[in-house]
Amino acid sequence: VPVQAGLYSADEPLVSLAGSARSLLLGSSSSWLAEFYASWCGHCRNFKETWSALARDVQDWRPAVYLCVLDCAEESNSETCSEFGITGYPSMKFFKAFAEKTSDGVRVSGYTVDSLRKQIIDRLEEQKESPPPACPPLEPISTPELDQFFENNSEEYLAVIFEENKMYMGREVALDMLQFEGISVRRVVKDQTDLIEKFKVSSFPTGFLFSKNGSVSRIDPGEETRSSYTNLLRSLPGVKRANHRLIGWSEKTHDDENTVIRKADNSKVYMADLESALHYSLRVEVGRFHVLEGERLKALSNFVNVVRKYLPARPYLRTLLNSLYVWLRARTRTKVLFDDFEDVLNNKNMDQKAVLSSEENYVGCQGSKPEFRGFPCSLWTLFHMLTVQASEMATQRTVKPAPREVLSAMRGYVKYFFGCRECAEHFERMAQESLRTVRTLDEAIKWLWERHNRVNKRLAGAASEDPDFPKVQWPTPELCPLCQVKTESELVTWDDPNVMHFMKTHFSKDNIADAYLV
Ligand code: FAD
Repeated sequence: VPVQAGLYSADEPLVSLAGSARSLLLGSSSSWLAEFYASWCGHCRNFKETWSALARDVQDWRPAVYLCVLDCAEESNSETCSEFGITGYPSMKFFKAFAEKTSDGVRVSGYTVDSLRKQIIDRLEEQKESPPPACPPLEPISTPELDQFFENNSEEYLAVIFEENKMYMGREVALDMLQFEGISVRRVVKDQTDLIEKFKVSSFPTGFLFSKNGSVSRIDPGEETRSSYTNLLRSLPGVKRANHRLIGWSEKTHDDENTVIRKADNSKVYMADLESALHYSLRVEVGRFHVLEGERLKALSNFVNVVRKYLPARPYLRTLLNSLYVWLRARTRTKVLFDDFEDVLNNKNMDQKAVLSSEENYVGCQGSKPEFRGFPCSLWTLFHMLTVQASEMATQRTVKPAPREVLSAMRGYVKYFFGCRECAEHFERMAQESLRTVRTLDEAIKWLWERHNRVNKRLAGAASEDPDFPKVQWPTPELCPLCQVKTESELVTWDDPNVMHFMKTHFSKDNIADAYLV
């Protein structure tokens, strides 16, 4: 059984960077294309199939180039992700051979196997000075090189693929044959007119096979595709797979069997989830930014402010949130180093008893597997709780919050810190569309409930959906029998006053359970 490690399994041709990102990516004689992801991020789950397919597609390009992964949601990796400048997921970076610094990674974008594979070739070609020693020459072969090939090389064969300049097939086949002995593959491009004329090439691509014994023949692979060429060349007599030593998988593994299952009642809100949301957002998500300033710092300060004001937190956490806010407010016009922020978060000066738990401990948000639910679930829960509590506190006349205070703080947090960047873009679009229409504290509760249901609808059936917790329009009739009303045409509509009543009851102080708190 393959061992699960984040989203990827041990039987894939991928290297895990867990615990050794620096030693693998820097000073290596190979190039590396790394995907930094978060296992809770739905877009990363959707992208997983592409990344796995790319890894299989270029597995024979090892050890010139390796594909690798790091799960930034795994707390033991979060410092590494920050060191490599990762601020959103998924992030792909290419490290040339002998890269020296964590900042040497070049951002790669693209969401198809085809475009990513082409980018690998482009990046490999850029390394003219110090290419990975295992990488075959990718530049077109010159006439003198061709003439003297067998004098200078011990190979049995040379395959030459004539192609248009913009084609990649010649280089792809060259890399596909990297692990094979007895043959070299080179390309000739259309503007090398001397060679095109000499071999009377009129259509592209066309291949020729040169043998040590002096024979030259047209390659007839059946169809002019990468796989046809590769298969044919691999089957030539005397061509065989060499014994390259490859780096394998070495991941800190999730042992599903050891995962503690916490029993949850879906009609409750768990303080353990709310505290986990705060721990992960303040320590891990904010921690991706070494320096906090300007709008980002303001967003952090607003986030801490609404949490400190409206979350019915345990007393020591409340104390901590208050001192954190006071500390931030004094610095909103300056630059803050995360290290200093973290010292306050960890109550380093210990003037008073103040503490934020320092681990993820999901109960109502625990998924059926570690990569499901968790943080994003707890973040929604936290913000619903805050919108409801702001309204409840105003009713009790303890405070007079501005109607959009919580939602604006949420918008700022999501925009500047939420690691799932595509989620953040969707949310920002919803906020731009209609946040300004929110005029009362109850409308804020309703706005967030409605937008969350829109997200649920969009994500129903998606790869990020935990099969044990399908995305539904919420609250379900089981949770609130009076919230959904069936019309004559069987369409479901909402009974707004009952939904509001339910939201206020569900996200009330009294409905918070403290099971599993540490
Ligand atoms: P969640 O949807 O996270 O819900 C958490 C809990 O809130 C539920 O268990 C339920 O108790 C309660 N709840 C459910 N619906 C409502 C509601 N309408 N009102 C009040 N409470 C409710 N993932 C993507 O793949 N693509 C995205 O674009 C995306 N955008 C996101 C934007 C934001 C701001 C956030 C916080 C998350 C986003 N996510 C996105 C993640 C996704 O919405 C879920 O959080 C994640 O898939 C985990 O789902 P879940 O089943 O735990 O329930």
